[in-house]
Amino acid sequence: MNVKFNRIKHLSALLLLSAAAVQVGCAASGDTQAAKSDSLATETAGNSPKNVIIFIGDGMGISTITAGRIFVGQEKGRTGEENKLSFDKFPQLALIKTYNTNAQVPDSAGTATAILSGYKTNIGAVNVRPDKDVQKMFLEGCGGETAPTLTDKAKASGKSVGVISTARLTHATPAAMFAHSVSRDIEADKDLEAPFDYDGCVSISQQLITSEVDLALGGGRKEFTDAQVAAWSGAVVSTKAELMAAPTDQRVLGLFNRSHMSFDADRPETEEPSLAEMTTYTMDRLSSDPDGYVMMVEAGRIDHAHHGTNAYRALKDLQALDEAVAAAVAKADKDTLILVTADHSHVFTMAGYPVRGNPIMGLVRGVDRKTGGPDADYSLDQDGKPYTTLGYQNGPNVREASSDTLTDNMVQDRDYRQQTAVNLSGETHAGEDVALFAAGPGAARFSGVMEQDEIGQALAEMLGQ
Ligand SMILES: [Zn+2]
Repeated sequence: MNVKFNRIKHLSALLLLSAAAVQVGCAASGDTQAAKSDSLATETAGNSPKNVIIFIGDGMGISTITAGRIFVGQEKGRTGEENKLSFDKFPQLALIKTYNTNAQVPDSAGTATAILSGYKTNIGAVNVRPDKDVQKMFLEGCGGETAPTLTDKAKASGKSVGVISTARLTHATPAAMFAHSVSRDIEADKDLEAPFDYDGCVSISQQLITSEVDLALGGGRKEFTDAQVAAWSGAVVSTKAELMAAPTDQRVLGLFNRSHMSFDADRPETEEPSLAEMTTYTMDRLSSDPDGYVMMVEAGRIDHAHHGTNAYRALKDLQALDEAVAAAVAKADKDTLILVTADHSHVFTMAGYPVRGNPIMGLVRGVDRKTGGPDADYSLDQDGKPYTTLGYQNGPNVREASSDTLTDNMVQDRDYRQQTAVNLSGETHAGEDVALFAAGPGAARFSGVMEQDEIGQALAEMLGQ
């Protein structure tokens, strides 16, 4: 589809959206904003997309998607439940089994290996096979043969490669695009030093520098030595302005923060590009390759906010992902397959019986069964105290009878950390299935209940590798 025409369509969709925002109320339907993504929505057959974009919401379990959908809808001034996220409109859907080869509840290293490289591995391992590589590397040191990465496969089929993450580029999920590491913790050269004994291993930062990735945008400057940055063959940028001014005939390494990029809620907009801006920049650049491109875009910090039981920042980062997917849909042509999935879930829950349109970050106020409207008072627990709709099964800030009585002011503060049931220093991942949404050529391959490594296997076949 003609790009200019597509933009005009997108604009009209935005206008429709603004009009819909005025009609607040239960009757409002998300369908009023469904005027785009038509080319993607109808073309799901075929098996050889020219371009592939894989969005990964790190830790974006289904409860996060549901709460995020309501959060985004309420930010638009609506009740929220009827809202549709950009990827809610995708035609294909699958449930993904996320376990690692040796872990019932997984981590991002093993799951990203499954999604991107097409095989499951041990928890904590990036692109090394569980049956031989992991044991051998721990006992005998690194080296030896490893299976090709998605970057290798894309390059073998002549395509360009983009890696985008709001986490450090050396973090487990982006690393799975280009690196092999027996431990996800070998991010920098200094991580190879004692007390660890990773004989012969190469840091993930060094592997990025020597990789064939064309555009790598994210955080993690502290994981790279000055010599490594100088050795990058192409432009190196550290601000949004530098990115936009980067020469368009060179590879680009963007390191926009010392560590992870900011949560979207805290992002300094002139310094750090948004996930949507990085996505569209990379699509613009890579679409000059007549053979197409493969891109991985990670919303890496949904996971981090959840680990800190701060639902607000998790949902704001989901909103940033929603906007990035919408921007990609508006720009993509019909030869582009777009996947949106998560690597794993979190123990994040949405509960109680809050009335329709109750603030998603707020205290539970139930339904008055006589009037059908909201109860006059908050719902109370057995200790006579109000409670929030959103919570976590484990983590710090355990809810007890002696806990402070919550107020809506407290719990709707952006820094509020939701209460938990099991006392752990950090909240954990969860083991239930995650969702995968697919649109574009090849999308029909993704349906039913799938093992996570079947995603990577399908991608390899589509690339003819
Ligand atoms: Zn995590």
